[in-house]
Amino acid sequence: MSDRRLADLPPPPDPLPVPVADNHCHLDITREGSPPVDVGRAVRQAGAAGVDRLVQIGCDLVSARWTVELLDEQPALLGGVALHPNETPGHAAAGELDHALAEIERLAAHPRVRVIGETGLDYYRTGPDGVQTQQEAFRRHIDLAKRSGKALQIHDRDAHADILRILAEEGAPERTVLHCFSGDLAMARECVRRGYFLSFAGTVTFKNARDLRNALAVTPLERLLVETDAPYLTPAPHRGRVNAPYLVPLTVRAMAATLNVAVPTLCEALSANSEMVYGPW
Ligand SMILES: [Zn+2]
Repeated sequence: MSDRRLADLPPPPDPLPVPVADNHCHLDITREGSPPVDVGRAVRQAGAAGVDRLVQIGCDLVSARWTVELLDEQPALLGGVALHPNETPGHAAAGELDHALAEIERLAAHPRVRVIGETGLDYYRTGPDGVQTQQEAFRRHIDLAKRSGKALQIHDRDAHADILRILAEEGAPERTVLHCFSGDLAMARECVRRGYFLSFAGTVTFKNARDLRNALAVTPLERLLVETDAPYLTPAPHRGRVNAPYLVPLTVRAMAATLNVAVPTLCEALSANSEMVYGPW
């Protein structure tokens, strides 16, 4: 049974000519029906595909603790910690939001946690009653990123206008990343104007993602990052299957085609941008 599931992993793509970083993955999350991720194996498979650095995102308390422990064992990983916007209403309802944020701040003190994220707004999964709490928690994560000097990674689902408004009101951290960028061309231009980084995921390879590719096309190389958001958002032609960092080359090659740049040129830029945002691994 488990052999069949392992055999279900998509085949490895051709390795990238210049190694890049996966800017956002969740090695602790298992999708229904798939076995838990063997982290060492995932790191090796990624490395063999030319994805030699990973940013592991822990976005609830259990996952953030797990992430920080893993950093001491895995030199290929940097970490991010936060309360995901879908987590914050529950903490607030239990009267524990302050307590949970204090623990995130303690975990963020680890020198190889270089990201506060993913934080932001999710109006798709959380109803109107959660909006106030999400916005308040987003502001507090922005403040933490600025106080700790770490990069901010933003989750934005159906909330583009409020994300941009709150970042403007609070003042964005020096290094701000729109994770799994999902805006249109106008939003991409505004993010570039403000100096934010746009991290593209497997969604940019989807057939119906013309608006997203138009947004990518106007983003300068020096503002681009790539990510998997594994185990989600598996790039074409494996959409719907389990995603993993070794599949980044499929997204990079699709990005290079949209941008009309050579793959090694794009890889050089992606690699340099990752180190600029998070510092060296
Ligand atoms: Zn994520």
